[in-house]
Amino acid sequence: VVIDGLGDTPRAFDLLRQAGEVAAQADATEAVFAAHVNVAAMSRLAADRARVEGDDDQQRRFARIGLAAIVEAERLATEVEYWQLLCAEHEASLQLFLGDPAASLDAVARHRAINERLQLPAQDTVIALTEVRALVALGRIDDARELADRDLDPTVFDAADMYIPRLLETRTLLHRALGEFEAALDVSEQLRAIERKNVRVRIESQLRHLLKDAEIEGARVEVDRLREQAVELEQVTLEDPLTGLANRRALDRHFDEWSTGVPRVPLAVAVVDVDHFKRVNDRFGHEVGDRVLRQLAALMEVGTRRGDLVARNGGEEFVVVLVDCTLARAIEVCERTRRRIRDHRWDDELIDPGTITVSIGVTVASPADEPSDVLRRADLAMYRAKRDGRDRLGVLTDDDPASVTS
Ligand code: GH3
Ligand code: MG
Ligand code: MG
Repeated sequence: VVIDGLGDTPRAFDLLRQAGEVAAQADATEAVFAAHVNVAAMSRLAADRARVEGDDDQQRRFARIGLAAIVEAERLATEVEYWQLLCAEHEASLQLFLGDPAASLDAVARHRAINERLQLPAQDTVIALTEVRALVALGRIDDARELADRDLDPTVFDAADMYIPRLLETRTLLHRALGEFEAALDVSEQLRAIERKNVRVRIESQLRHLLKDAEIEGARVEVDRLREQAVELEQVTLEDPLTGLANRRALDRHFDEWSTGVPRVPLAVAVVDVDHFKRVNDRFGHEVGDRVLRQLAALMEVGTRRGDLVARNGGEEFVVVLVDCTLARAIEVCERTRRRIRDHRWDDELIDPGTITVSIGVTVASPADEPSDVLRRADLAMYRAKRDGRDRLGVLTDDDPASVTS
């Protein structure tokens, strides 16, 4: 009904048809009934709009759609009198739109008979709305007037009731049929005031709907943009800008994933610290120092495997995480890295091979280790290598804390 009110009648009918199908699949009789009755109600609205526009074919087409829906609804209404009443009311109105006032009066009679049992309030007026029109259409003007004087009572409805415009319209129709044009004009003025208000409400709701669509679209674009930005930021915050290696944050995340992983993969961890790097800066300048750090990063990645991680832990210190790696293999990998760096021919010709060396601390994670334990042990191992003369490996296992080799 809302979609219809927004002016998209075909889609509204389609939604109701779908609702009926869903209800039927769920065996929800009341909902199936409601879907049919709503098709009838919407057909009435559409037929009435066609009438106002003077499109007789369209008016009858909608009336037939509505009557077909009422046939379906009545099949389900045999047990429930109130449902039968709804069917009768809709049929009476739809028969009028179809141009059959006699059939409309038959339905009105059924409506009245059912309500004599149900005694619902305001129904006499609702019934009279259609009956007066049917009588006018059949030329029974005096009967129509008598009925109108008796039952067309607007005070039974709230001021905003949807029946009020129909009541005013029926009155106008009757006044015209009686030649009471002044009165007809008077009532139709009231009717037009209500219709103007309804049109305004309808346009406002259409505008709100359009605005909401635009806002949703705008929000969607914004969300996409933010998502892209978040991906970029994530990249930036996980990457060391100088070397392009993983940074400390990425390393922490890597360890978090490892420590929560079940089962944990065996890890070897190496801390690599450049020896006397301060001297490199002092001798060749900070920029050369930076270039050396970049080349060191590349040299450390050689010999690692997919899943391993080389991170710049800060300054001239790096951490290498070797997954699924025994201590023996880790020592081998680190030893090769140490020699690769010592023997490297640097881009900068001023730096002789052997000028830049590293000290490396190696350890493997034991099952009881937290990430911080492994890192601390690797760090300790590295400091032992420094103490023992630099350009060498320090190895430390959790069960043999004193074992340091060169
Ligand atoms: P050790 O063998 O004991 O590790 O001596 P070291 O000089 O390497 O150690 P120290 O910690 O005293 O000095 C580290 C130096 O690394 C000091 C700092 O200027 C330099 N450094 C840290 N980050 C950067 C950087 O991003 N670029 C450059 N060029 N130098 C850096
Ligand atoms: Mg150092
Ligand atoms: Mg250092």
